[in-house]
Amino acid sequence: MTTAIGVVMTEHIVAGRLQDQRLAGKLLRFPKDEDELDTLGAVPGGELVEILAEQIATLSASGDGPVDAIGVAVPGVIRHGVVEDSPNLSQIKGMRMADDLTKVLADRGISAPVHIANDADAIAAGVAATRGQLNKLTRVWTIGNGIGYGRWPYVEGVWEGGHITVSLDPKERFCGCGGVGHLEGIMGSRAMRLRFLDLEPEEVFAQAKKGEARCREFVDLWHRALAAGTASFIHLAGPGRFYFTGHNVGFLDLPVLRAHLETMVKMSPLLSYSLEVLPPDDETALLGAGVSAVRALAS
Ligand SMILES: [Zn+2]
Repeated sequence: MTTAIGVVMTEHIVAGRLQDQRLAGKLLRFPKDEDELDTLGAVPGGELVEILAEQIATLSASGDGPVDAIGVAVPGVIRHGVVEDSPNLSQIKGMRMADDLTKVLADRGISAPVHIANDADAIAAGVAATRGQLNKLTRVWTIGNGIGYGRWPYVEGVWEGGHITVSLDPKERFCGCGGVGHLEGIMGSRAMRLRFLDLEPEEVFAQAKKGEARCREFVDLWHRALAAGTASFIHLAGPGRFYFTGHNVGFLDLPVLRAHLETMVKMSPLLSYSLEVLPPDDETALLGAGVSAVRALAS
């Protein structure tokens, strides 16, 4: 039996103990009040590590037997335990998260190896684990403030799929990274606010349903952009399973996406893809973080 601790850090932190890739016991959450939003943005990086260590220590003491591995899912570009960039949690950019957390945990007598994963990769791992398809290519788009792209199995690389170029229009310049024509510059919440200065993203989608021309045109662009990004990854890595989640996944109309994708992917060996919406939850990423950490032990 393997015991792991999985943690996901996004706008909040959620941690749980996993026994053989299943959640065992209850989840810990920071902040405890679920209505408090975006609280982590103001917490310094060192304090975040202390909060993570506190949750991990509590979970470590909550069961029988030692913990084999600790997995933490973090948004951004993560390589070899280092947060190379994290636009939505900018204070952790450059942090050696695995080393820092390992040291703080050692002071608490916890010596299990720490593995840091990108949050979208962790969701892909969590989906693959819960569906019993850890041997298959699983890809996830997370649709929120930013646009994340995750894949399982993990392969070395940057994989910033949200910043894939989907438009050659020089006016498409709303991406938070500053790049022109990016997927996130069309689909991300921040980008939508910059485009529609007078409307919130929810209002744009609501008005499109009522037939307002400018909003309808944009909602079509939004779906075409996601289809273009997905088509590009189908042309690179092949067909397979794509999942869509994140707090704005409710904007997604799967038949509209599929119709656009069908115009973009035509080669017969590439047509066996599947598209599925997953309701956003923390458990999938948390489970995936733990599964990734246990898998990393073997490699
Ligand atoms: Zn970008």
